[in-house]
Amino acid sequence: MQNRRKFIKLSALGIPLLSSLDSFSKVVTPTLGNLPIVISTWDFGIAANQAAWKVLAKGGRALDAVEQGVHVPEADPKNQSVGYGGLPDRDGHVTLDACIMDELGNCGSVAGLEHIKHPISVARLVMEKTPHVMLVGDGALQFAVENGFKKENLLTKESEKAWKEWLKTAKYAPVMNIENKLYDKVAPRKLPGNQYNHDTIGMLALDANGNLSGACTTSGMAYKLHGRVGDSPIIGAGLYVDNEVGGATSTGVGEEVIRNVGSFLVVELMRQGYTPEAACKEAVMRIIKKKPDIAKNIQVGFLALNKKGEYGAYAIQKGFSYAVCTKQQNDLLIDGKSYY
Ligand code: ASP
Repeated sequence: MQNRRKFIKLSALGIPLLSSLDSFSKVVTPTLGNLPIVISTWDFGIAANQAAWKVLAKGGRALDAVEQGVHVPEADPKNQSVGYGGLPDRDGHVTLDACIMDELGNCGSVAGLEHIKHPISVARLVMEKTPHVMLVGDGALQFAVENGFKKENLLTKESEKAWKEWLKTAKYAPVMNIENKLYDKVAPRKLPGNQYNHDTIGMLALDANGNLSGACTTSGMAYKLHGRVGDSPIIGAGLYVDNEVGGATSTGVGEEVIRNVGSFLVVELMRQGYTPEAACKEAVMRIIKKKPDIAKNIQVGFLALNKKGEYGAYAIQKGFSYAVCTKQQNDLLIDGKSYY
């Protein structure tokens, strides 16, 4: 109760909730009465959830919440795996992948989109203003510009420097679960330099009306082949939402997620009665079972939220984190345990 009071008070004052995370309660699995809820992948999900929460707390729609939420990492130049400032492909192009899905089963997606800071909003426009689901590359850019999106340079000095450094060896090697090492010693993402070269924000929200939506956005695997598309903009792979059952999203090496249609699988398992965590675990196990040799050297994580507001996650490697925000709770969970 005291925590809840603090949360409301701080929110009302507009004080960033991050500054007082330590005063919030530990993990609570919400029941329907505790809606709304928003969850998202990785530590950058905390700030993203706060933006989403502003929409949800006013009784807004989950779709608006997830779009606003993922705008935060998309616009953050320090985040080198999502949006502006993302690490480029091997030819030096920052190419973005994103998709969005609403409670009615509508969806929109863009892949290989360059020069647009908020690919998620272009994906939403594809969903709402065209008869299509997915636009790619130059066509996606043309559509964005025609609809008033500003064309800008997304390659920051830091990411350009990291790319030029990479060019010296030009070895494509996704970093596996480096987050694990960071969390052991210091606050997330605080180590200097380029410590990780992929990660996506996948966000799922259940609004006060009990409606679900999801969004997923990334710059993909750093130094990928030009034209490579990961799981993140693929409906059913990087994201899937079924308003009767729940939603799921993924992060990690996208090729393995696509091969197993991961997020759709998680939602279908929840339909059969699996809890969110058990569904995520089963999807991870499929990946491991099919390709054990590949799986031991990569990270893939799933995050899921069901219609009741219960959530869970599972990943191949330890150290997978996700952020949860409800009325009672604003937390980062690492391997299912509260970090704060
Ligand atoms: N899933 C993303 C991709 O394959 C990367 C990540 O989430 O780490 O593009």
